[in-house]
Amino acid sequence: MRVVVVGGGFGGMAAAARLAKMGHQVTLVERSTSLGGALGRIEVEGHIFDTGPTHTLLPAVVRDLFRKSGRPLERETELVPLDVVREHRFADGTRLRLTGGSRAAQKAEFETLAPGLGDAWVKLVDPYGTVWERLRRDWIERPWNPDLAHPETTRLLAERATLAAHLERALPDARARLVAAHPHTVDGHDLTRVPVWAGMHSYLEQNFGVWTVPGGLGALGDLMGSRMKTRKVEVLTDTAVLDVVVREGRAVAVRTADGEIDADAVVVGIDPRHLPSLRRFVRGTATTSLPDQLHLGLRPGSVLADQFGDELVGDLVLHGPRAEADVATGRRARRGAGELLLVRPSGSAPDDGRAVTVVSRGIAAEQVLDTLAARGVDLRDDIVLSIHRSGTDLAQTWGGSPLGLAWDGRRTVRRRPGARTPIAGLHMAGAHATPGSGVPFTGLSGSLVAQAIGPA
Ligand SMILES: Cc1cc2nc3c(=O)[nH]c(=O)nc-3n(C[C@H](O)[C@H](O)[C@H](O)COP(=O)(O)OP(=O)(O)OC[C@H]3O[C@@H](n4cnc5c(N)ncnc54)[C@H](O)[C@@H]3O)c2cc1C
Repeated sequence: MRVVVVGGGFGGMAAAARLAKMGHQVTLVERSTSLGGALGRIEVEGHIFDTGPTHTLLPAVVRDLFRKSGRPLERETELVPLDVVREHRFADGTRLRLTGGSRAAQKAEFETLAPGLGDAWVKLVDPYGTVWERLRRDWIERPWNPDLAHPETTRLLAERATLAAHLERALPDARARLVAAHPHTVDGHDLTRVPVWAGMHSYLEQNFGVWTVPGGLGALGDLMGSRMKTRKVEVLTDTAVLDVVVREGRAVAVRTADGEIDADAVVVGIDPRHLPSLRRFVRGTATTSLPDQLHLGLRPGSVLADQFGDELVGDLVLHGPRAEADVATGRRARRGAGELLLVRPSGSAPDDGRAVTVVSRGIAAEQVLDTLAARGVDLRDDIVLSIHRSGTDLAQTWGGSPLGLAWDGRRTVRRRPGARTPIAGLHMAGAHATPGSGVPFTGLSGSLVAQAIGPA
C-alpha cells in the first residue's frame, strides 16, 4: 500500500517507521527543512539545548518503537533514568524532590512536607494502577473498539469528575496538590477541565520514572530521522501539505503547492485544523498554548552548578504565591494567564559551564530573570548566552501546538480524532490524536495507526 504521512514530528515518524517495516511504501511530507518537530536540538557557541522535550515517561514505548522498526535502541544509544523527576520549590520556602521508580521513596518525600501527607499521596496514586491497566489495554495500546473494550474502561473515559475536584478531596495539603497537578498545568491545561483518570500520570512517574538519552532527548529526533533512511521512507522536506484530498468518502491523496501525492492511506500527524477537509473533526475544540522558552548558557560555578552538580534532574519548578489558587479555580488558566516558571537543567555547555532552559507562562519576557531571582535562583550574573523564543514563535515554527488539544472535560476524549476516523483511509497520529501529547503518547499513536492499517 502507498501511505503518505503528513508531518515529520515524533508522532508522524513513529507511524512512518512502523508502517515501512510492515512493508508499506511510505512517503513522509514535512513543511520545514528538517524532521523532528518539537523533538529537536539547537546548538549555539558550543551550547546544546533541547528545543522541546527533555525527558520521557514510559521508556518501553521508545524501546518498542526502535525494536519494531529495525535495530534495537540499545545498538544506537541508551535510555538513562533521571535521578530526580522534579524538584518543587514552594512560595513558603519548603521544597519537595520527587524521585521516580519507588513508592516508598515518594511516600517518605511527602512525609517531610507534613506528617500523614505520605499516606495521603500513596492513597491518591495507588488506585491509578488499575486505571492505567484498563486504559492501556483498551485505549492506549490498541485502537479503540467499544465492542472489545471492558465496560469499566468505557465508564472511566466517560467519567464527569475532574482532577481539580479529586485532588482537593484526596490531598489535604496545597503543595501536594501542586505536585500532582504539575504534569497538566505545565502543558497549560485548566485542571478544572482535566478528567480525573488523567491523574494516572503520577502513577506512571512513580512506577517507571522519567528518562533521557545522552546528549539530550533531541538526539532521539536525529535517530528517528536516520531510521527513515534505513527503512527507505521517502522524505519530502520543505513541502507543506495544504489539504487531504477526499473522494467518495475516502482519503486518496494529499495536496501540496506542487500538486497532489496519491495515497491508498493518509496518516495526519499535525493539527487537523490546518487542513480544510478535516476541520470538522475538531470543531468546538481549542489547542493548548505554548510556553515561552529562554535558553541560557551559564558560566562555570553558577548557582545551578552548586545546587545540582552532575545530578540528572527533570524540572526545577518554582511556584509563585498565586499558584494554588490558579490550580483550584482554573480561572486564570482558562484565560491563558496561568503562571508557570521552571528551569530545565538538561542542556550541555563547553568549558564546564551549564546550559539550561527556563520555561515560563504568564510572566513578561523581561521579568523572567528577576522573577527567578525573587524565587531564589539568581542567574543574572552567570549568563554567557541567552536565546529567547516566545510560545507564539514556537507555534509558528512547528506549524501548531505540539501539546495538542486543551482538555475541555470528558468530551475531549471523543473529539480528539484517532487511528481510525470517519473517512476511510484517513488515520491520525501525534499530539492532536489519541492518546494525546508527550513523547510516549505520540509514540504510541504511531503504533495505533500501524495496527489500524495492518501489514502490507
Ligand atoms: C516546550 C515543550 C516542552 C516539552 N517537553 C516535553 C517533555 O519533557 N516530555 C515529553 O514527553 N513531552 C514534552 N513535550 C511534548 C512533546 O514534545 C510533543 O507532544 C511531541 O513531540 C509532539 O509530536 P508531534 O509529532 O505530535 O508534533 P510536532 O512535534 O509538532 O511535529 C509536527 C510536525 O509537522 C510539521 N508540519 C506542520 N504542519 C505541516 C503541514 N501542513 N505539512 C507538512 N508538515 C507539517 C511540523 O513542521 C512538525 O515537524 C514538550 C513540548 C513542548 C512544546
